[in-house]
Amino acid sequence: MFNRLYIHIPFCVEKCGYCAFVSARARPGEIESYHELLLQEMRLAAADHEQGAPLDSIYFGGGTPSLLHPLQVSRIIDLAAELFSLSPGVEITLEANPGTIDRERLRNFREAGVNRLSLGVQSFDDDMLRRLGRVHDAAQARHAFRDARLAGFGNIGIDLIHGLPGQTLSGWREELRQALSLSPEHISVYGLTVEEGTPFALRYPEESPEIPDDDRSAEMFETADTVLVEAGFEHYEIANYARAGYRSRHNSGYWRRDGYLGLGVAAHSFLREGYGFRFSNHDTLEEYSRELVSGRLPRRDEHLLTLEDAMAEFMFLGLRMVEGISCKSFEQEFGSRLNDIYGSTIDELIRIGLLQQERGNLRLTRRGLLLSNQVFARFLP
Ligand code: SF4
Repeated sequence: MFNRLYIHIPFCVEKCGYCAFVSARARPGEIESYHELLLQEMRLAAADHEQGAPLDSIYFGGGTPSLLHPLQVSRIIDLAAELFSLSPGVEITLEANPGTIDRERLRNFREAGVNRLSLGVQSFDDDMLRRLGRVHDAAQARHAFRDARLAGFGNIGIDLIHGLPGQTLSGWREELRQALSLSPEHISVYGLTVEEGTPFALRYPEESPEIPDDDRSAEMFETADTVLVEAGFEHYEIANYARAGYRSRHNSGYWRRDGYLGLGVAAHSFLREGYGFRFSNHDTLEEYSRELVSGRLPRRDEHLLTLEDAMAEFMFLGLRMVEGISCKSFEQEFGSRLNDIYGSTIDELIRIGLLQQERGNLRLTRRGLLLSNQVFARFLP
């Protein structure tokens, strides 16, 4: 069962130097044929899986979903409405690259039903944007934001990256200032990770002096927290800040383990069946289309969760949220007390200052937010 829908668009104008996502430049006609495959996958998946509650969110992620024609987005949303029931206030997010949109396209996306825009700005520094290999400059990002407002978007998020090559603390403060000057509803701040196999990994080998070290990255994380909270944003997940009422419902669902159906190349799904059922699609366009053309769902692998897996996920996904997890919810979901299962691990993490427990909730401390991967590793089955 699921109440969220994710659509993966694996195309980009150019590949950014730091990117390890499944995405590539589209060949002529490829986006249109991919769009048809998505519609077909949605029909097959709707016949194969029970929905559960009405869809509370639809999320177009990528890649660069704003490369889709607004009519293609409209057809996907319309088919979702036909095959699944939608909740009256369904949140429909489109990730957009500022180099791919103008006011007219934005207005058409809005008319297609998209009501939340996630703008991949990453930086307001032109030199940095060139180094990252982005296809837009800072002025285009600012224009895209203003055009989105004029096109009727009342819920816009901005993504920024810190820990960029050569970035200083004052440079990072300036990035935050520029983002706030646009008055977005949501800001995500991700730390750069240099992923193996990317051009960045060759250009910036481990411990490259150009990449801010752990202490400097921690300072940038702390700075973001101070600046954004002072500006009235709520820090609700490790990397995410929102104005009141504007948390991403779709992403919050991932951390609460809501069921979601993922469509498209390399998309992942999680259905609330038994302790949970996770599966993913083929990660090449060739295999993905071959399966669908043969009338089969393009599934690559499946994993039926055990009780132990489900409890671990509850911990390491739920702890991503700043409010943490409720001990009572754990007990309601699994019929066991949290301390009976993880008591010694929790005690140890509290003792070393990474977790804190208060009023029936367990959450990361400020230090724990910085070292979250160390905490999550302790709950892996
Ligand atoms: S636009 Fe996003 S998905 Fe595409 S290459 Fe750049 S970082 Fe990767």
